[in-house]
Amino acid sequence: MKIAFIGLGNMGGPMAVNLAAAGHEVVGVDPVAAPDGMTMATSAKDACAGADVAITMLPNGAILRAVASEVIPALPAGAVFIDCSTVDVESARAVGADAKAAGLGMLDAPVSGGIKGAADGTLTFMIGGCEDAFAATKNLFDIMGQKAVHCGASGSGQAAKICNNMILGITMLGTCEAFAMADKLGLDRQAMFDVVSTSSGYSWTMNAYCPAPGVGPASPADNDYKPGFAAELMLKDLGLSQDAARACDADTPMGALANALYAKFVNENGGQGVDFSGVLPWLSARGNQDA
Ligand code: NAD
Repeated sequence: MKIAFIGLGNMGGPMAVNLAAAGHEVVGVDPVAAPDGMTMATSAKDACAGADVAITMLPNGAILRAVASEVIPALPAGAVFIDCSTVDVESARAVGADAKAAGLGMLDAPVSGGIKGAADGTLTFMIGGCEDAFAATKNLFDIMGQKAVHCGASGSGQAAKICNNMILGITMLGTCEAFAMADKLGLDRQAMFDVVSTSSGYSWTMNAYCPAPGVGPASPADNDYKPGFAAELMLKDLGLSQDAARACDADTPMGALANALYAKFVNENGGQGVDFSGVLPWLSARGNQDA
């Protein structure tokens, strides 16, 4: 397939490289990044002319909307536009409606799996949009990832992503505050892991991504909390979850608190550039009366 790939940063770069390595004709667009050996175009308009598929991997919904206004008129009718960025549900649905009106297939397809998953081609895709467009591009998802789940109509992929990451943020904070309290109760961290990871408190954050260094499988905690999944990206996703909660009138008190705590960690307590499990040393240093 002829593919225009727009946004070649930490995630988009390796995803585009994997598609090219599988034999697709990939043309990249990015004002800053240019992976080695990638054919580049200077505008989304040029890259999309005659393309079968356009893929975007961009920082946020405002940038997606701006790029989509170039991509949609440039793609030939019948082409498929896949947005893999994590953006607000409203932007995903608005861009989806514009693309549909222009005769394009449109999929919102955010990912889980991080930079390593992008490089290894083992991402999980959560997909919203029409099933025909998904069927036509399934082989591309198979190259970039290990799993692609069709979740429903336009916006459903983004909805699945922010619900998942709201659980992830809440669970990480719960796991970290339990470790911090266990320390103060004199409980050995290894003993805490051995019990919780095989008891009803088990979770992905405890069992697979343990925030305590030297305990459980290797994780960013063992690498001085270098990301991994950066705390500011968790903050972004929790913010999107709260935007969505307001828009659909959902009560998400734990999501709201997780959002406020990650904002405090990232903006006031050295959490920039730190893995999201780095809240453990921060919480450990706090006391019962610290708001
Ligand atoms: P990044 O900042 O490394 O990459 C974004 C790229 O988009 C940059 O190279 C930037 O130059 C480019 N860009 C910005 N405006 C552009 C424009 N108008 N036209 C073309 N290119 C433009 O970010 P990333 O880590 O690759 O994340 C991309 C998306 O994936 C985000 O929505 C993020 O939330 C999501 N995501 C990231 C991770 C992760 O671990 N990094 C995990 C899951 C999802």
